[in-house]
Amino acid sequence: MSKIKDAKIVIIGGGAVGCGTAYQLALAGETDILLIEKESSVAAVTSAQAAGLVGQVRTTIERTQLAMWSVKTFSDLQQDPKTNPTWRQTGSLRVALNEERVEEFQRMKAIADRAGLETEYLTPKVAEAKWPGMNFSMAKSILWCPTDGYLQPYDLTASYCSHSGRRGVQFSVNTAAQQIVMKDGRVTGVITDQGPIQCDIVINAAGAHAFHIAKLVGLELPIVPVRHEYFISVPCEGLTPDFPVIRIPDLSLYIRTDVNALLVGGWEPNPLHTDPHKYALGGNPPGIEPDWEVLAKFAEDLVPQFPKASDLGIRSVFKGWPTFTPDGRFIIGPTEKVKGFVMAGGCNAHGVSGSAGIGRHVAESLLEPKPSPYVQSLSPNRFSDSKWTWPDAQASAARIYAEYYGLTKP
Ligand SMILES: Cc1cc2nc3c(=O)[nH]c(=O)nc-3n(C[C@H](O)[C@H](O)[C@H](O)COP(=O)(O)OP(=O)(O)OC[C@H]3O[C@@H](n4cnc5c(N)ncnc54)[C@H](O)[C@@H]3O)c2cc1C
Repeated sequence: MSKIKDAKIVIIGGGAVGCGTAYQLALAGETDILLIEKESSVAAVTSAQAAGLVGQVRTTIERTQLAMWSVKTFSDLQQDPKTNPTWRQTGSLRVALNEERVEEFQRMKAIADRAGLETEYLTPKVAEAKWPGMNFSMAKSILWCPTDGYLQPYDLTASYCSHSGRRGVQFSVNTAAQQIVMKDGRVTGVITDQGPIQCDIVINAAGAHAFHIAKLVGLELPIVPVRHEYFISVPCEGLTPDFPVIRIPDLSLYIRTDVNALLVGGWEPNPLHTDPHKYALGGNPPGIEPDWEVLAKFAEDLVPQFPKASDLGIRSVFKGWPTFTPDGRFIIGPTEKVKGFVMAGGCNAHGVSGSAGIGRHVAESLLEPKPSPYVQSLSPNRFSDSKWTWPDAQASAARIYAEYYGLTKP
């Protein structure tokens, strides 16, 4: 006899996206949900590695609103003294080092204004008062967003679980999905290593295994794992965790403080990526060793802005395989080929900060008779009959990664 219960909805994957989706569905009143996670705890894979940066200033109004929804959710969850995401609303500073970037900031600020997101330009002097030790004299423009910040990804995921659990969502860790059962083109269940589960809907939130889970129902989706890493420095005097997050897109760098330490990450021009055909559903993507050359370049590029970076040793390196898509957009919502099969993946390294907004969009795609045009545009169906190829998909995903902070066109 199966050890686990049947449910109307099974979510495969207990990262930030799966748990955020469970939470948003539960808020919408949908609580007959079982989330299964193959590891012994939630947030054990990519989500655990994330820097937890939450930025709302984006290049489209929809992405800005999605991020604003996430921030609202994190602020709500932070009110719970027992389980909260350790959300620190430090604000963020976005620094332009050339004139084209200044123009991009103007476009981004106009989008923020339309979305109702508070932003303002700061002088280098005011920025320095917020982040002592950082040299802003080269800045051509500094855009401040007071409601940005960062959180602890594990705490966020645990908070989603706690709140959705209180509403009736069930969780089963150490439970790996192995097959999806279908009848007449509809999902009817999931076979796991703990036994079968009957369900009407499967939500695929399996991160770097979302490709394999989609394959189980005969769908080929371009979900490309691309390596990402950052380092935390050895103790650095004078830094406290309440300093604002800094993004310097012209150097492809992001920075935040940790307790007495600096966190530095960036987007490499030639990122490593892997082909999910090369590992199995029951296996893992290739192991990642810290790439000291890449990490040292992040530190070197930071020295003109933060001279202390030249002496800072590396205490620890965080790394993983976030997934990217060829068009840089999430893959969210039901699939037309298999009824009851729903995607929640292809997060393009926004899966922690975007998790609440992504979860909300998944809920909308499932529960609303007519989801918004934006949510419809994220549908997995955009890849079902197009003529994409794997080499092109991988090259495009790597380009999206490399140009993460690239200049957007007017
Ligand atoms: C170094 C680094 C820094 C990052 N920094 C940020 C950041 O600052 N902000 C941000 O928003 N994002 C950041 N990201 C990206 C972010 O981590 C990802 O977008 C996010 O974690 C994706 O969440 P997920 O739930 O889709 O995937 P995951 O966290 O990988 O979760 C997927 C889960 O599915 C489970 N699973 C897989 N197969 C099965 C199966 N067969 N049965 C059951 N369970 C299964 C896995 O075990 C895993 O727990 C960073 C990523 C890295 C690597």
